[in-house]
Amino acid sequence: MDIAERLAKERRGRLAAERLLEQKQRELFAANEKLALHARALSDQIVEQRQVVRSALSEAEELKGQNSRFLSDLENAHTAAVMAERRLWDSIDTIRDGFAVFDGNLKLVVANSAYLAAFDQPLAGPGTDYAAILHHVAERGLVDTVGVSVDAWVAAMLARLEADPIEPLDLRLTRGTWLRLQDRRARGGDLVTLALDITDQMRIWAAIEAIPDGFVLFDRNERLLTCNQRYRDIYPETAPAMIPGATFEEILRYGLERGQHADAVGREEAWLADRLAQHRNPVAMHEQQLGNGRWVRAHDHPTPDGGRVGLRIDITEQKEQQAALETARQAAEAANRAKSAFLANMSHEIRTPMNGVVGMAELLCDTSLSEEQRLFAETIRSSGEALLVIINDILDYSKIEAERLTLHPEPFDLERTIHEVAMILQPKARAKGIDLIIDVDMFLPTRYIGDPGRIRQVLTNLMGNAVKFTEVGHVLVRVVGIETEPGQRQLHVTVEDTGIGIPAEYLGHIFGEFNQVEDASNRKFEGTGLGLAITERLVARMGGEVWVESEVSRGSCFGFRLVLPVAEEATAMVPITLRRALVVDDQLINRTILERQLGACGIEVVLCRSGSDAMERLLRDGHFDVVLTDHEMPDMDGLALCATIREAGFAMPIVLLSSNPAAARSGLGADIPAAVLQKPILRSDLFRRLQTLSRPAATAPDRGAFEPAGRQMRVLVAEDNRTNQLVFRKMVKDLDLDLTFAGNGREAVEFWQDLKPDLIFMDISMPEMDGRDAARAIRTAEEGKSHVPIIALTAHAMDGDADGILASGIDRYMTKPLRRTAIIEAITAHCPTGARDPVQGIAAANDTAA
Ligand code: ADP
Repeated sequence: MDIAERLAKERRGRLAAERLLEQKQRELFAANEKLALHARALSDQIVEQRQVVRSALSEAEELKGQNSRFLSDLENAHTAAVMAERRLWDSIDTIRDGFAVFDGNLKLVVANSAYLAAFDQPLAGPGTDYAAILHHVAERGLVDTVGVSVDAWVAAMLARLEADPIEPLDLRLTRGTWLRLQDRRARGGDLVTLALDITDQMRIWAAIEAIPDGFVLFDRNERLLTCNQRYRDIYPETAPAMIPGATFEEILRYGLERGQHADAVGREEAWLADRLAQHRNPVAMHEQQLGNGRWVRAHDHPTPDGGRVGLRIDITEQKEQQAALETARQAAEAANRAKSAFLANMSHEIRTPMNGVVGMAELLCDTSLSEEQRLFAETIRSSGEALLVIINDILDYSKIEAERLTLHPEPFDLERTIHEVAMILQPKARAKGIDLIIDVDMFLPTRYIGDPGRIRQVLTNLMGNAVKFTEVGHVLVRVVGIETEPGQRQLHVTVEDTGIGIPAEYLGHIFGEFNQVEDASNRKFEGTGLGLAITERLVARMGGEVWVESEVSRGSCFGFRLVLPVAEEATAMVPITLRRALVVDDQLINRTILERQLGACGIEVVLCRSGSDAMERLLRDGHFDVVLTDHEMPDMDGLALCATIREAGFAMPIVLLSSNPAAARSGLGADIPAAVLQKPILRSDLFRRLQTLSRPAATAPDRGAFEPAGRQMRVLVAEDNRTNQLVFRKMVKDLDLDLTFAGNGREAVEFWQDLKPDLIFMDISMPEMDGRDAARAIRTAEEGKSHVPIIALTAHAMDGDADGILASGIDRYMTKPLRRTAIIEAITAHCPTGARDPVQGIAAANDTAA
């Protein structure tokens, strides 16, 4: 082939290639076009898909976030749950009580440390067998297996779990603690068990069991909560009913049916109602007697929750002792009364002959005797009197003790009674230089209704002591009173002295019988120590009370208070026309009392404390209607003052107040006219005297002015004993009387008919006809048309006799030994109008004799 051909061929080839290329280019282009279209569509698709993917992605992102949050929440929740469980267990672990859960096969699921410790199982893990735990503690002796073998105990412990519900059980651990097991089946068959530490409770319970008294506790619904064994023992018949939960009423009924309560027999229902009411409104204490004779003291109290707690104390022995004591006391009292009665009879028997001894000694003293004989006779008399005082004290005390002292109220003059006692004490007071002063409230009545004898006795004791225990100064008896109701006064009588006083520690003691102040200054004085004991009882018997205040070395003040009916209201004051009085006394008390008394009569009073003062006053100003002067004064005494007044030419009346009128009178002599008044002064005497001075004639007194008028008072004395007749006659020898003696009752009746006496003194035991029969005969003969006062003279001091005496028509009685003042008082009291005052004549004559 040539080149040309080859060239043509090549050319041809190239042209073909070019045409092919062109075509291919066109095809490519077309393909490209298509591709481009596809590509566009595809890219659109891709964009679209990408968006889908993106949104899917973001969704997935979100889900993933959610998921992870959920996961972390889940994780947190899990952690919290774990924490809570741990806390719960920590808490369960901290409680003192044991807690455990066992599964249906009694394999331990879980337990707190208290449980594990209690059962000595520190290492026991889940799966440990309940029975193994029980064996473990029992074998090591950690628990009290109540006397059975380990196996038996374990078997019993397992068997109790079969019950439904499972009863609680108390276990005593040998280390001294107590557990109460409380078990309960849970839903899946698990056993939940609590081991409560009840050691404290058991200790208290042990203590309650240990107390020797019964203890019981009821709830607010009156159901028994608990009681101790002692409580059951006290009510043995009822004990079986004492089950916790039983009501109080059920328990009571059970006991009632079995005769538990002695005080319920025959009235069971009423008793039950009472007892229930008592339970509901408990009184702090009541006593019960049980069917078996024993005595119980019950204390019931409400508890804060509305229940009741009760204590029962067996007081049978106490009761027996009490009864024995009471019997002994009664026996002692009976013996004491017998002793007192014996003493009373004895002293009575001794008194009768003593009457003769003292009376005759007194009479003997009035006869002419040698010095030596007089001394002997005086000694017999004073010793006899001292003995009589003691016997009288013993008699009185015995009578009060024997409860045989009765009061005999009658109208009497209180002021006069005080005065009489003062008069008896006057010689002793005078010998010591003590002033005896009586100050009765001006506005008080003087006559009251009371037992004058007993009031006199009280006054004698208090005033006698005051004089006895005072060496210098005064004894002042003061009476004040208030009207408690019309016709009645509460009287306040005080006896004040300036004596040795009583130490405070003895003030309560001295009212006891035979009690005296035991110190040197006191014990030089004689006495039985019975006076105040009698005084206190007498005043109490009269419805009053006694008291004392005292200061050692300063003096004492004994007082008593009595409410007495007034026998006679104070009579209108007698008219006194004196205007001015000069009172001279060195004692302030006396001046004050006189000032008050004279002031109450409307008299102007000027007070002077000495004779020289008085003279000074008189010389300055002599216009006094009367001068009242004390007798015993230092420097210038009353007598000297009287003489000086008269020497100075004053003629006004002078009244000399003296505790020793006889001495005053003889001291004044006949040439110095002055009246003498006995100290202490009776208000009535003073008034009578002032009234006399008010009469014009009185300024120049003369004996004739007092000449007695009227007949003599007639007194009949029936007395068989000649000695006693003699004693009586001597006692009234100074009185202006027509006196007749009868030797027996029959004579007394005869003489009464002939003589028509104004008063009869009647001895009781007399031959032929005794005093009672004589009085009866007289009363019968009088037929109620007249009534002669009859006073019995008796040695029968016991009051049983008194009733018999008074029943026979006798008006009053006086006990022997007779006292002159008492006899004179009785006579004056019965002096009828128309007869001469048997005493007045003598007193008036004495006064003017001055
Ligand atoms: P008596 O005087 O017989 O000893 P009382 O019972 O009258 O018995 O008095 C008891 C005691 O009280 C007296 O011993 C005396 O110690 C004391 N006493 C009583 N009155 C007074 C008084 N006025 N001043 C001082 N002591 C008194």
